[in-house]
Amino acid sequence: MSLQDIQDKFAKAEVGAARTAGSAQLIAVSKLQPDERVRAVLEQGHRVFGENRVQEAAGKWPGFKEEFENVSVHLIGPLQTNKARQAMELFDAIHTLDRPKLAKAIARLAEELGHCPDLFVQVNTGEEDQKVGVAPQEADAFIAECRDLDLPIIGLMCIPPVDEEPSLHFALLAKIAARNGLDGLSMGMSSDFERAIALGATHVRVGSAIFGDRA
Ligand SMILES: *Cc1c(COP(=O)(O)O)cnc(C)c1O
Repeated sequence: MSLQDIQDKFAKAEVGAARTAGSAQLIAVSKLQPDERVRAVLEQGHRVFGENRVQEAAGKWPGFKEEFENVSVHLIGPLQTNKARQAMELFDAIHTLDRPKLAKAIARLAEELGHCPDLFVQVNTGEEDQKVGVAPQEADAFIAECRDLDLPIIGLMCIPPVDEEPSLHFALLAKIAARNGLDGLSMGMSSDFERAIALGATHVRVGSAIFGDRA
């Protein structure tokens, strides 16, 4: 597949769900992709990218941002508190806010730096031990805590368990967002983005379907 194919499928999925064209934002997940593939997508005019690791993004994006205008890069992988400063300097959005310690560190840094990326709270909708994210039943309290810290929470993010129907998880995420007055829903990947768009995704993270298999 290619960027154009995915954009066409996005448009179809939006129409199919009676949504406004462009209401779901495509985040091209460029982790572990060779620079020439990323450059090709930039040259086709795409400007929104996702990365999993602070270190990898730090080696890749400052250069591309100098070369191409209006690029935004989203952190979609787990964030260690000791990397929060670097992440806030590098990323335009962080999708993986998942614990009070990190929320407090980001709030302190936001005050010091005078800016804060858009934030999504990651919810572990499948309640999997190996996955980060707040448990669904703890989400409301954690969102309230983040709001008390004046953090710019714009939505929720989830990664459904690999062996379950993702739609159930997307619907659960949408329900938690709605009852907390949040509009942003970061959900859907290469294998399930159409279902995510049907269930209201506003930020969809697609990697291999755009770039090909990762190294
Ligand atoms: C890698 C990754 C993606 C993209 O996965 P693909 O299957 O390549 O589309 C999306 N979200 C997260 C959190 C990821 O780590």
